[in-house]
Amino acid sequence: MEKKPFVTKEEIEEIVKTYPTPFHIYDEAGIRKNCEDVQEAFSWNPGYREFFAVKANPNPFILKILKEYGIGCDCSSMVELKIAHALGFPGDMIMFSSNVTPAEEYVYAKKIGAIINLDDISHIEYLENCAGIPETICCRYNPGGVFKIHNNIMDNPAEAKYGFTTEQLFEGMAKLKEKGAKRFGIHAFLASNTVTNEYYPTLARTLFETAVELKNRLDIKISFINLSGGVGIPYRPDQTPNDIRVIGEGVRKAFEEVMVPAGLGDAAIYTEMGRFMTGPYGGLVTKVLHEKKTYRDYIGCDACAANLMRPAVYDAYHHITVLGKENETCDHKYDVTGSLCENCDKFAKERMLPEINIGDYLFIHDTGAHGYAMGYQYNGKLRSAELLLHPDHTVTLIRRAENIHDYLSTFDFCDVYDGIDED
Ligand SMILES: *Cc1c(COP(=O)(O)O)cnc(C)c1O
Repeated sequence: MEKKPFVTKEEIEEIVKTYPTPFHIYDEAGIRKNCEDVQEAFSWNPGYREFFAVKANPNPFILKILKEYGIGCDCSSMVELKIAHALGFPGDMIMFSSNVTPAEEYVYAKKIGAIINLDDISHIEYLENCAGIPETICCRYNPGGVFKIHNNIMDNPAEAKYGFTTEQLFEGMAKLKEKGAKRFGIHAFLASNTVTNEYYPTLARTLFETAVELKNRLDIKISFINLSGGVGIPYRPDQTPNDIRVIGEGVRKAFEEVMVPAGLGDAAIYTEMGRFMTGPYGGLVTKVLHEKKTYRDYIGCDACAANLMRPAVYDAYHHITVLGKENETCDHKYDVTGSLCENCDKFAKERMLPEINIGDYLFIHDTGAHGYAMGYQYNGKLRSAELLLHPDHTVTLIRRAENIHDYLSTFDFCDVYDGIDED
């Protein structure tokens, strides 16, 4: 499928008069439409709730839009819990899916009534000792082995640090019941960025069968099944996007075949999608500063891996559109780079693109999740602004760009940088 930016060159030329590049810009209309589609796809399940994985895009303006649709937060740290609480998410709209969890985070999560999702059997006693066992509790399951769909290996849970083994899950659930827990959930995240409509249905069936076994063996009634994240997006133009309605129907089919006959038909389905909720609705806009012709043809732009690290760390593909040249032939081969003193700082390697001129604006697609959020300040690079493109195509600043004071703010206990040049 052709990948089209949600802004035009003319719009960007207007926007940069107020907000210089680089910046991440988000498509509010796209986010809203997707929220509706997700809610609709699971509307067959009365208790359904999406808990947005805050780590994917922790901007409060984005979280507030999601909240309008009844979407909650999936948090994994103290800061994320505090953000969710401050934005008015009630406890039952906050999932705390953490690992290697410090005691104070359990204490805080319990205090605000968040749903605690335990990553390990040893955390049962740890939680009991620091905060007490809450009435509602969830355990993260890792069945081990490899995760397959139709004999295709999707991921390798046996190598993942997360979750209880099967034996531990049964032992842990029995323990939690004994210690007074009353409402139980199970969670699993077995494959990442899956571009197939069969991931959730396959995972759901495994979890549903486990729920039935928990009922039969331990008389524990599972109240919710948390399918977690992992629903992917088509970063490459040749990939077929997931159809969330087909995914929802697939989960429904497994639910009706496994849960309903076992008397578990009132269980709620929870999801913790991050990438799927915001990924396609963000773009990194950057200006071309230089062209360098050595052993390859390099396009140097004003954004770098500090603004978007997925290509550098995962060798991930992010599609690039040269704004205003959408319909030109891709007959030039470029490496598109940032300015870090790191050779991995390349948004694209040997990518076929239209002829690029200095001053052109590049739109790097699919940065709405795990984009800005993974940014860093290496090489003294400051974090960029984030902008929201409203449905009427007006633009609001939803996070300003960092300045040197932000960069030096952790030296506010001493005077070493007094008198530093500000501009
Ligand atoms: C990262 C994460 C998610 C979201 O994953 P996506 O791939 O963005 O959908 C959900 N749940 C947990 C526990 C995670 O760590």
